[in-house]
Amino acid sequence: MKIILANPRGFCAGVNMAIDSLERALELFGTPLYVYHEIVHNRHVVERFKKRGVVFVDRIEEIPSNSVVLYSAHGVAPAIRAASTERNLNAIDATCPLVTKVHLEALRFAKEGYTILLIGHEGHDEVIGTIGEAPGNILLVQDEKEVEALELPADAKVAYLTQTTLSVDDAEIIIGALRKRFPHIVGPKKDDICYATQNRQEAVKDLVPEVDFVLVLGSRNSSNSLRLAELATSCGKPAFLVDGLHEINANWFTNKHTVLVTAGASAPEDVVQECVAFLQRHFNATVETRTVREEDVSFNLPKELRSLTLVN
Ligand code: SF4
Repeated sequence: MKIILANPRGFCAGVNMAIDSLERALELFGTPLYVYHEIVHNRHVVERFKKRGVVFVDRIEEIPSNSVVLYSAHGVAPAIRAASTERNLNAIDATCPLVTKVHLEALRFAKEGYTILLIGHEGHDEVIGTIGEAPGNILLVQDEKEVEALELPADAKVAYLTQTTLSVDDAEIIIGALRKRFPHIVGPKKDDICYATQNRQEAVKDLVPEVDFVLVLGSRNSSNSLRLAELATSCGKPAFLVDGLHEINANWFTNKHTVLVTAGASAPEDVVQECVAFLQRHFNATVETRTVREEDVSFNLPKELRSLTLVN
């Protein structure tokens, strides 16, 4: 068997920054340390921090007053910031700057009187945060049918925005449907689907014709990981999204000659390598890394952490 290891794969700049922020906060403040939502959507990352005393919460009210809280890479609504202030929490904002960009666009369009059609997945942390910036002005659309069902006149003053981790192809179809329905619709200057999501999808698209099976590492609540598996399937290849080695079924690989291995933006590289080592052991697999696009993006730690020095 031959393994083609897709590059880029795994951690993006936003995930690296969020994890580094939590590491730094642990050094500076110790535990208990609270994180609002999962710091990134990956079970391994979350479990490892839990073991070190980090407490993940879904409600700010669960956090004792005067504690330290980190906001996850997916961002938060202003109401969450207000609730933190009310509890006198020391809040560190590890929101990915590419998510913040969408929040700022939402605020700008809302201020200019637009109805904003947000293309995204209902219930995703990022979508909840973005809608929270202008709840009265934002409508969520998830597919073409929902575009059809919008009760707005064709000349409505509308703008669109997208979640950062969508399928590039699906988003294009929905944006096309919006443009057809609302010829005057405006959008962001540059696509909101982030570079990491686009590059990981591009790598799968480029490499999938060469393989007969695709293994995607990532958690099931990771939007960009799910999109990678869906993309491979839509290209006609069997694909499985697994959280790690424990979810792999060796039978999947029977009679498979070439396997593409990739990972969503929140999946740690050691989990990828564990799976690759398993395939090498059990199927005598060789490994070829294929770089489809170079990445050199990095983000600074949140300002709340940059201004602090470690006290021994
Ligand atoms: S996937 Fe994109 S938007 Fe999400 S944290 Fe990574 S870089 Fe930021």
